[in-house]
Amino acid sequence: MINSGTKVIALIGNPIKHSLSPMIQNYFISEYSRDAVYLSFEIKKENIREAFNGAKTLGIFGLNVTMPYKEEMFGLIDNPDRVSSIIKSVNTVKFDHKKNVSEGFNTDVEGFLISLDKKKFKWKGSQCLVIGAGGAARSTIYGILQKNIKRIFVYNRTTEKINYIIKDLKSAGSEKIRALNSINDLSDEIKNIDLIVNCTPVGMDIGSNKDMLPVPESWNLRGKFIFDMVYRPVETRFLKKAREEGAMALSGIDLLINQAALSFEIWFGILPQTDAIKEKVLDSI
Ligand code: NAP
Repeated sequence: MINSGTKVIALIGNPIKHSLSPMIQNYFISEYSRDAVYLSFEIKKENIREAFNGAKTLGIFGLNVTMPYKEEMFGLIDNPDRVSSIIKSVNTVKFDHKKNVSEGFNTDVEGFLISLDKKKFKWKGSQCLVIGAGGAARSTIYGILQKNIKRIFVYNRTTEKINYIIKDLKSAGSEKIRALNSINDLSDEIKNIDLIVNCTPVGMDIGSNKDMLPVPESWNLRGKFIFDMVYRPVETRFLKKAREEGAMALSGIDLLINQAALSFEIWFGILPQTDAIKEKVLDSI
């Protein structure tokens, strides 16, 4: 029962209407009997600082931050943790109202790694390809660099953005990154690639991205791990191709749920089980 002691956790982003996070977090809250409620707020870009200060003033327990405010939130936080400081992106906030301090975290990195670890991806000596150079690619590349991999190829239609990532991740081993001018430059090498991660909206159920493939149709994906950050639709054309050709296919739903579980752990100190909510989320979309 909601009462004056109920903790309020807020998701902020824009757009927010179709976010699955309220469903996931309120499920965890109920399963683990926390006296809390998780709500979402669509905030205009010019109001983000005001919204953050308002959350502090109102005694909001924690925040989740989604597109397009993760980088901006990094600039507002008092104490970002090590990972969010390196990638300059915050998706989870915990307030300590007694000390008037905000702590920032980024659970996308660990959420991504857990998703692959659960499927037993062998990191050691692997070669990876990341497509995209936006926020999701940044946390993905950082995560991959934490592992004992051989090399990461990165392709983005705007090549300069890869150079910013290489510069920002210097202390994280970015000398292992090879920027590609064209994705076709990898065609001869594709047999040696173990993991491909799509960090662009290509393949998403919207506009010109619909039914598009982020890699050349001619590439054979057999034996690889294919991770598509896109989760609408759950089965993108890329994942369909991957399954048909005998690859291990992971959808954006895995990341969505794993990063949510890690945020819940930051707020409540419990890492929730994710199998049941994954089924519910898949049913709902
Ligand atoms: P972002 O920061 O806006 O970056 C978008 C990236 O996609 C950029 O590299 C951009 O290239 C590229 N891109 C956009 N449209 C493209 C197109 N038509 N063709 C080729 N490249 C294109 O966004 P983000 O936060 O990284 O998110 C990227 C995708 O991941 C989105 O679909 C998002 O929904 C998904 N995502 C999923 C989760 C999850 O939990 N599953 C979490 C985060 C993100 P340019 O640099 O050239 O513009």
